[in-house]
Amino acid sequence: MLDWSEPSAPPRQAPPAFDIPPVAQADQTGLGAIDRRGGRVSVDDKRMINCRADVNQLLPLKYKWAWEKYLAGCNNHWMPTEVSMQADIALWKSRDGLTEDERRAIKRNLGFFAASESLVANNIVLAIYRHLTNPECRQYLLRQSFEEAVHTHTFQYIVESLGLDEGELFNMYREVPSITDKAAWAIRHTQHLDDADFKTGTPEADQAFLRDLVAFYVIFEGMWFYTGFAQILSLGRRNKMVGIAEQYQYILRDESIHLNFGIDVINQIKIENPDLWTRAFQEEVRGMVREAAELEAAYGRDTMPRGFLGLNASLCETYMHFIANRRCAQLGLARVFDETENPFPWMSEAMDLKKEKNFFETRVIEYQNGGALSWE
Ligand code: FE
Ligand code: MN
Repeated sequence: MLDWSEPSAPPRQAPPAFDIPPVAQADQTGLGAIDRRGGRVSVDDKRMINCRADVNQLLPLKYKWAWEKYLAGCNNHWMPTEVSMQADIALWKSRDGLTEDERRAIKRNLGFFAASESLVANNIVLAIYRHLTNPECRQYLLRQSFEEAVHTHTFQYIVESLGLDEGELFNMYREVPSITDKAAWAIRHTQHLDDADFKTGTPEADQAFLRDLVAFYVIFEGMWFYTGFAQILSLGRRNKMVGIAEQYQYILRDESIHLNFGIDVINQIKIENPDLWTRAFQEEVRGMVREAAELEAAYGRDTMPRGFLGLNASLCETYMHFIANRRCAQLGLARVFDETENPFPWMSEAMDLKKEKNFFETRVIEYQNGGALSWE
């Protein structure tokens, strides 16, 4: 029988909590022994990485930008199943509604995103969350993780609606070299953090963490996703696959916040740890951006060997150069490519759903706009 009553005699051994020195070792997970003698957290104790302040105390807030992005994410809530797929199904099943080139681009685009959303989610939950030692940033990461689940759900819903081969689509990141090359490149940059013994706190480890943030936030979500959006939204502008295009608009709106959160995180870590942002490291980050743009150009040539109305591999490459330079500027780095015009000026309008609503004649549900969404 279980006895729930208070023990009448004290336990023979003192609880281990008393043996733990006050604040000697910092608890970065939030799941370490509770420091009974620790004081309350003050804003000045809070840090992005290597923090000693209790990560279980959200308040007082230090990084308002992180909290605002959490609120904006919540205001943008949507579900893929709220978007009608009728027009897309009719077009996909029709014999001559889409060219073979358009079908190839659509399928590879879906295949790229389907697995990428999972890669991004896994990296947030299993790598980034552990090492970002600030509760308001973690609050945003929890929201972002859910949004990645919604995005993965979107691809499940598209596969089901159009009757696509699920094995083909979800394995493209392993079976289509131009997609595998991008996934493998990103995974290479999170490998360090995958080691169970990895800890931040040395310059090398802190830079490894920054490298992960650059690879996933700035490059994966901030560069590669953007050509992916441009491909589908360009078809949507021609009234093709309007359901998917609408879903991509919602994903783009989410991703623009993910990207800007990542940029703010990196810049705040730079402010707090200026020693990490060495000349050599800056050059390394610029090199990563350049390499990523080249991988994307190869993917563009592979997915659009001939191109179609309004879109081709060379336009996408120019767009990638434009985006790459913009990301460098956001990180305070010199540009990596010659200055270029944005070949897809309509992309900056694509996030303004009110404007686009007349464009896509699909069922659009009024969502609250996440405040002033001026982020790119
Ligand atoms: Fe996503
Ligand atoms: Mn994302």
